[in-house]
Amino acid sequence: MKISDKLFAYPWRDMRANNGNSYVIRTDETVCLIDPGHEAFLPQLFQSMARDGVQADEVKSVLLTHGHPDHMEGALTLRKQGARVGIHKEEEAYIKEMGPYMARMLGIDMPEVRFDFFLQEGELLIGGERFLVIHTPGHSPGSICLFWEEPKILFSGDLIFPQGVGRTDFPGGDGNLLKKSIQRCRTLGAAMLMPGHGEPICDADAVEKNFDIIERMYFDYI
Ligand SMILES: [Zn+2]
Repeated sequence: MKISDKLFAYPWRDMRANNGNSYVIRTDETVCLIDPGHEAFLPQLFQSMARDGVQADEVKSVLLTHGHPDHMEGALTLRKQGARVGIHKEEEAYIKEMGPYMARMLGIDMPEVRFDFFLQEGELLIGGERFLVIHTPGHSPGSICLFWEEPKILFSGDLIFPQGVGRTDFPGGDGNLLKKSIQRCRTLGAAMLMPGHGEPICDADAVEKNFDIIERMYFDYI
């Protein structure tokens, strides 16, 4: 689904399977994929991308908002195809430490993804476009959000959703940190929200209203 000439969104709408949303950023210079989702659903994602004129083998880099399998697993295949995969350094440590435990808890195999670079707090250039990497712990220790500065688009991973927030009951989750991370992202004044689950919000007032709802509905309980 085309959001702009440079941004394509692939929200996961099948309620029978847990999978994360994926986003493609395409510039003249590069193609970058945010959160490829589960390995098993990659063919579906690649088909949707192809309908938008983006071929899977054009993907040069994969940015992971965090290391949960429903966001990260497909990075294995993309890495084999030559894409470079990035994640926050703390998340790599968390995956190594908690991977086996999480696998037992979720009843799955944890994907063994290797990383090519780390997403550090601060500025990141993707094909000439300026992004901010924001370390947003709470859902997991090394979760990040990405903020595309010029169009003011926030990719929030599992920090916030439309009328919802990421779970904090997984290992490494922390409700207080989640609240701080949400408040930090609110100050960015995002015009659009591209969440890790649920539908994108493409209107600045609706994004602000969503922050209001989240603070009112969840902040007393997390
Ligand atoms: Zn998650």
